[in-house]
Amino acid sequence: MLNIGCHLSSSKGFYNMGEMSLSIGANTFQFFTRNPRGGAAKEIDPDDAKKLIALMNENNFAKILAHAPYTLNACAKVDSIREFAYNTMKDDLQRMEYVPGNMYNFHPGSHVGQGTEKGIELISELLNSILTKEQTTTVLLETMAGKGSEVGGTFEELREIIDRVELSEKMGVCLDTCHVNDAGYDMVNDLDGVLTKFDSVIGLDRLKAIHINDSKNPFASHKDRHEKIGEGSIGTAAFERIINHPALRDLPFFLETPNELDGYAAEIKLLRSLYK
Ligand code: FE
Ligand code: FE
Ligand code: ZN
Repeated sequence: MLNIGCHLSSSKGFYNMGEMSLSIGANTFQFFTRNPRGGAAKEIDPDDAKKLIALMNENNFAKILAHAPYTLNACAKVDSIREFAYNTMKDDLQRMEYVPGNMYNFHPGSHVGQGTEKGIELISELLNSILTKEQTTTVLLETMAGKGSEVGGTFEELREIIDRVELSEKMGVCLDTCHVNDAGYDMVNDLDGVLTKFDSVIGLDRLKAIHINDSKNPFASHKDRHEKIGEGSIGTAAFERIINHPALRDLPFFLETPNELDGYAAEIKLLRSLYK
């Protein structure tokens, strides 16, 4: 079975996201741990978390994916911004233990002129100060489009971060199809080549989740604007190959396309119909 879901609002809690997922034919979902622009997170209701876990077990859910706020920048130049990144990720990972064994994704960060090398150093330092042996959550670095001073626009940069993390068994990668396309990895014409590259640089065993988005911009544009499935420069035929590829087909797929719930339901139905 194709494991697929979409990004959902977490404002009504965990169980509500489970129910919403079922209503649109999904068996997983992604959510922001707090307001995507930052700020305090809502108190977690342990019973709400338990109800979600039961719903997930009864309905064959795949692992769910939490997404850190966009304002989290682990390699910012300003100390207070890095402090915010530390406090937020630490708190998020503690909260994730209410739904143990799932995943937490974040954008590696923007080095804002300090250079990629310095960025990688700061990101791995932050991870080393937060990750614990006891945590059950896998932390995912997202592949980025390489916009501005973003770190993580190449597989090599992600590999370098992971190499410097002491508890690297807690680390994985989330591949965003829009970002990878915009970064200049040709998944449309050479999916095998891109995955071979991923395997040789990072290792496919690190790949834990896929953000499945079309792109509003052409290949290698370094832009990062998501499009609905089939309406962008990647196209439906490429997505059919992506969801069916032996190296990807068992992973959880998360839609982050510009859609309301009914649009997500239609994309999930389409992608399920293309899954062999
Ligand atoms: Fe993201
Ligand atoms: Fe993404
Ligand atoms: Zn994006």
